Amino acid sequence: MTERIQTLIAGQWRDASGPLYETEYPADGSSVAALHAATAADVDEAVQSAELARQRGNWAGLKRHERAAQLHRIAAGIRERAEELAQLQRLDNGKPIKETRALVASAAGTFQFFAAACETWEDQLTPARGDYLTMSVHEPLGVVGAITPWNSPIASEAQKLAPALAAGCAVVFKPAEITPRMAIELARIAQQAGVPDGIISVLPGKGSIVGDALVKHPLIKRIAFTGGTTVGMGIQRLAAEKLMPTSLELGGKSPTIVCADADLEHAVAGVLYGIFSSSGESCIAGSRAFVHASVYEKFRARLLAGAQALRVGDPANEATQVGPLVSQSHRASVERYVELGRTEGGSVLTGGARPQGVLFDKGSYYLPTVFEGLSNSARMCQEEIFGPVLALLPWSDEADLLAQCNDNVFGLASGIWTRDYKTAWRIGSALQTGTVWVNTYKLFSVSTPFGGVKMSGTGREKGRLGILEYTSQKSFYWGLNESPMPWSTAP
Ligand code: NAD
Repeated sequence: MTERIQTLIAGQWRDASGPLYETEYPADGSSVAALHAATAADVDEAVQSAELARQRGNWAGLKRHERAAQLHRIAAGIRERAEELAQLQRLDNGKPIKETRALVASAAGTFQFFAAACETWEDQLTPARGDYLTMSVHEPLGVVGAITPWNSPIASEAQKLAPALAAGCAVVFKPAEITPRMAIELARIAQQAGVPDGIISVLPGKGSIVGDALVKHPLIKRIAFTGGTTVGMGIQRLAAEKLMPTSLELGGKSPTIVCADADLEHAVAGVLYGIFSSSGESCIAGSRAFVHASVYEKFRARLLAGAQALRVGDPANEATQVGPLVSQSHRASVERYVELGRTEGGSVLTGGARPQGVLFDKGSYYLPTVFEGLSNSARMCQEEIFGPVLALLPWSDEADLLAQCNDNVFGLASGIWTRDYKTAWRIGSALQTGTVWVNTYKLFSVSTPFGGVKMSGTGREKGRLGILEYTSQKSFYWGLNESPMPWSTAP
């Protein structure tokens, strides 16, 4: 049954002023929620109200330990509603319930971490070069915009909201049009935790209308963006007009390298998880597997057996490993890539089709798919598909391997499977990616910074210093000299 929902704008729970639209459950196409999209006028109202709330000083003006206490309450609020949030997230984007539970837990952990960081980050006394003290302090940037995609809403939203609130900023959120629920619920939990009215607004709707107005608004002092590279580049261009800082967490085409000495059982499990968890709808999906020629046949046989054994199905079922893709139109895009891969000379070893059966009729499901026979220069191996499609590529020469891995516009993440730490260090140091996983994949810790290089983005999220991204640094000089400055002393 469709639930009618409202959003939080300028401290009021109400409908946004744009057209009514519905979100759909990807597993069966049924309508989940009905809500109004926001307009540019809503953006202006939310930003103006955030600026007023900021100026009132009852958020940025709190002592750090007081803000931290509220962030702890948000973490507790998320944990209290964990199961409900995980189910709502599943209905929004069709991810298997086990994954959405993990995302909710990670969101709570993110608030807890930034509560601690909020209390403990230190301004500095810097070494002085005379009779004065020098100090470096950090002040909140003001009102910031956060724009997020549909694939892991609650986790990527917490990664922006928690450090921004910890820094003392006000936040205007623009979640993906098709997955608005988590940002709205985070705002509710934050309000109940005591975050003052106006400090958080959530504006669902189209990127080209709401996102664009948010980026251009003169009172917005920073944009934290997660999404596709083309949209990120457009945001960077607009940001340049007002010299506004941004963080851009963008797309990827991550290589995973299996060396001759790898533990094959671990490597197969890691490669399967790296590409097929979240149905491949993951920026860090390990979509190119480079496997050493000496173990290629063995690896390939085990990988195919593993891919075919994956449980594709109802995301509400605890046993499901691969749920539907987020929408019919996204599945159509994945299907176009699979056709392209075939025309580029690749052969489909498994998958390459929709699963058959009543369960799958109405949902946007697609089978885990493995290609071989493609060159790394094929579009299939160069472009982000954002679906359950893996290209297997044999290698034998390390220099050539590294050239192929780095021959890609993206630089988000990579994986290496080897028993030799020297090999791992050598290859890991040469890979042009923001994250390198060694004998594991897709592991995350909020205390470790995350972000990309090349066209995968700029800036970093997470990590203790992630708060500083939402601040402006200021230097103080405190003169200690008893006598006037010698230069200005009258003769
Ligand atoms: P998208 O770029 O289409 O949309 C992301 C967000 O930007 C949405 O909220 C959208 O409405 C908004 N948007 C669209 N046009 C805009 C505009 N002109 N101005 C301002 N905002 C605009 O991406 P998507 O399809 O929702 O998500 C998939 C992409 O996100 C993939 O490329 C994936 O790799 C990337 N992603 C990256 C990370 C990371 O951390 N690097 C994490 C998750 C997803």
